[in-house]
Amino acid sequence: MKNLKTKSSEWSRGLAKSITFIVTKDCQLACKYCYLVGKNTKERMSWEVAKQAIDYILGHEEEFKEESVIWDFIGGEPFLEIDLIDKICDYLKTEMYRLNHHWFNSYRFSFSTNGINYHTEKVQNFIKKNYEHLSIGITIDGTRRKHDLNRIWKTPDMEHGIMPKPEEEHGSYDDVVRNIPLWLEQFPGAGTKVTI
Ligand code: SF4
Repeated sequence: MKNLKTKSSEWSRGLAKSITFIVTKDCQLACKYCYLVGKNTKERMSWEVAKQAIDYILGHEEEFKEESVIWDFIGGEPFLEIDLIDKICDYLKTEMYRLNHHWFNSYRFSFSTNGINYHTEKVQNFIKKNYEHLSIGITIDGTRRKHDLNRIWKTPDMEHGIMPKPEEEHGSYDDVVRNIPLWLEQFPGAGTKVTI
């Protein structure tokens, strides 16, 4: 059995295929620069679509010759779909093993999250289960003031196109920062993403 790839350098030399699941268009936040206009709770990836994609990719090994794979999960906020993600990752692991796929010892699960749900039991159980294969980045836009200028909580009215007045906006900085110590304890080398 080949050794697991654990050093980040082995993942940054362009030898890994990156495959992205957009699991939901929903998010707790409504950042003002978000590329996802029209956030909604209806457009979510179904298990059937995810499974079809996985079956195709793993069933065509000859078309994916990269040494390694990064299974990337984004949204919206991906951890809103932790049940689906857990199911996808379990299926990926068992299928890569069953098929004796060359990615079996050479994969990562990667997440860009707003960090709001990071501490929840389901997300933490997922982290414990897949710890050796995880890359998780939590977004913070610098200081509380800078972060809260853009990264505000979604309100029910926004779904109808009504934006809150500036004085009614509720920033998310404190809700993210409370999870940073746990995140850094679990992933001391983790990096954040800052949007300027
Ligand atoms: S956390 Fe990400 S997906 Fe959610 S509103 Fe902000 S930029 Fe968009």
